[in-house]
Amino acid sequence: MTTSNPPSLDRHTLVATLRDYIDQLREEGMEGLPASIATAGNRAAAPKVTLSKASPPVAPASVAPATADASVQPLELLSKYPGLEQTSTLDQLREFIGECSRCKLAPGRANLVFGVGNPNADLMFVGEAPGADEDARGEPFVGRAGQLLTDIIERGMGIKRDDVYICNVIKCRPSDNRNPEPDEVAACEPFLMRQIELVKPRAIVGLGTFAVHALLKVKIPISKMRGIWHEVHGVRLMPTFHPAYLLRNGGDKRLVWADIQEVMKFLGIPIPRRGGPPS
Ligand code: URA
Repeated sequence: MTTSNPPSLDRHTLVATLRDYIDQLREEGMEGLPASIATAGNRAAAPKVTLSKASPPVAPASVAPATADASVQPLELLSKYPGLEQTSTLDQLREFIGECSRCKLAPGRANLVFGVGNPNADLMFVGEAPGADEDARGEPFVGRAGQLLTDIIERGMGIKRDDVYICNVIKCRPSDNRNPEPDEVAACEPFLMRQIELVKPRAIVGLGTFAVHALLKVKIPISKMRGIWHEVHGVRLMPTFHPAYLLRNGGDKRLVWADIQEVMKFLGIPIPRRGGPPS
């Protein structure tokens, strides 16, 4: 029996793509291939996501149902902290978290960094974890990377930082700016999921490898995922590079700008004719 490749398969391209992919995995310290994600690395075939909520108006958080859509919530997140799903506003959620000591980051923090912005925002930005500036102020993205994020929002998108919602996967600062560890992510994740449920954004921008991996449970390099709509918890997610990465790799601002323009198009935010990435 003879086997043959499908006619459309160009072996040279395939091998080159795989090599490129493996190099990226090595570069970014990835240990394995993605568990599951459709069509990553194949932008043309990226799935179009159907939103459960198609139109912008969002119920005020104070009248938001306790559970946005129980069918899409992983059971372990619902049950991890009894009472969590009963919180029906961000203030209640913050109160529920309290002076948290659920993971080993607690003793090292000055402030728990919960999140800021419009509790009914159409757009949510999710970063990794607070740095020193954020820890000192108790507010996400207020250091150098935060200034760049603010520029992207205000000068690039033409909207106010106060009109979006900004938070991190992890609410407490890991010492020495190390990456958060899996147990720390696991401890904090239910709070992020509840934030998403309560804000009910129409779109989320995932900032950087860590945030996107935590949200999507995959280990694909951010360079392969950015620019493609994904979905988390029933909400569209656009992965893009982290602003701290952009501070070191200014050339990639144009890629972030392209990703942000996709988000603007989806949300119906006019794209300035001569707009560009904030310098
Ligand atoms: N980097 C993040 O991921 N989050 C912050 O809040 C600040 C820097």
